[in-house]
Amino acid sequence: MPKIIPGTLYIVAAPSGAGKSSLVNALIARLPFVYLSISHTTRPMRPGEEDGEHYHFTTVEDFTARIEQAEFLEHAKVFDNYYGTSQTYVQQQLDAGHDVILEIDWQGGQQIRRLMPDAKSIFILPPSKDALQERLEKRQQDSAEVIARRMKDAVSEMSHYAEFDYLIINDDFYKALDEMSAIFVANRMTIEQQKDRYQNLLEQLLN
Ligand code: GDP
Ligand code: ADP
Ligand code: 5GP
Repeated sequence: MPKIIPGTLYIVAAPSGAGKSSLVNALIARLPFVYLSISHTTRPMRPGEEDGEHYHFTTVEDFTARIEQAEFLEHAKVFDNYYGTSQTYVQQQLDAGHDVILEIDWQGGQQIRRLMPDAKSIFILPPSKDALQERLEKRQQDSAEVIARRMKDAVSEMSHYAEFDYLIINDDFYKALDEMSAIFVANRMTIEQQKDRYQNLLEQLLN
């Protein structure tokens, strides 16, 4: 039996509309060892979103209280709303041997890298600005005003791509999904991980 060894923390960032959530959800459906951290946010719920599934939706007062109680591993203000990552959930999943994905913005990425230098980070880009705009419109979840704001902020978000370990261009969805899966699978096959996971087998084989 392989041993349970701590999982890896992944930061996944992208400009809004690049396909981050679609890719992450498809990845989770494909790889049973990958879990998603559900952030807390003060932004209003979009049609079709569910509390506790897409986000833990909350108020500014509750969010501020959670900051004071040090419940967040990281938090940031994005598009006038607060977003934060639950420290307990992430640690529990990593201890259980699961890889954990944080879908966070570049500011959160910087905070996590400082706190957890072993975290791996992936940046997702759209194939063009036009495609990004089209996807934000197609999603039909944000007003024209919000879309204009997100397009404007996309350039500053994208300018942080070089701080990440991996870059994926989400043009063909299934190609991007394969590329993303490859990162998670390869990381679990490294000698560093396998020698601990298969310590018993290695001892038997070598004695
Ligand atoms: P309760 O757990 O329902 O009593 O309420 P909380 O005050 O803990 O949470 C209020 C809202 O925040 C609920 O809608 C929860 O779904 C949500 N919530 C989000 N994240 C958490 C979390 O990490 N812990 C808890 N307890 N609630 C969360
Ligand atoms: P994000 O989480 O980055 O804001 P979403 O995952 O919500 O982005 O994707 C934005 C929209 O683009 C969604 O309607 C999604 O179905 C669509 N989409 C995602 N990836 C692709 C792709 N490769 N080609 C075309 N449309 C895509
Ligand atoms: P959206 O409202 O489109 O779901 O997300 C808006 C932005 O907030 C995205 O760039 C997303 O990555 C970021 N975000 C979501 N959750 C968190 C979080 O917990 N922390 C940080 N720092 N950013 C987050």
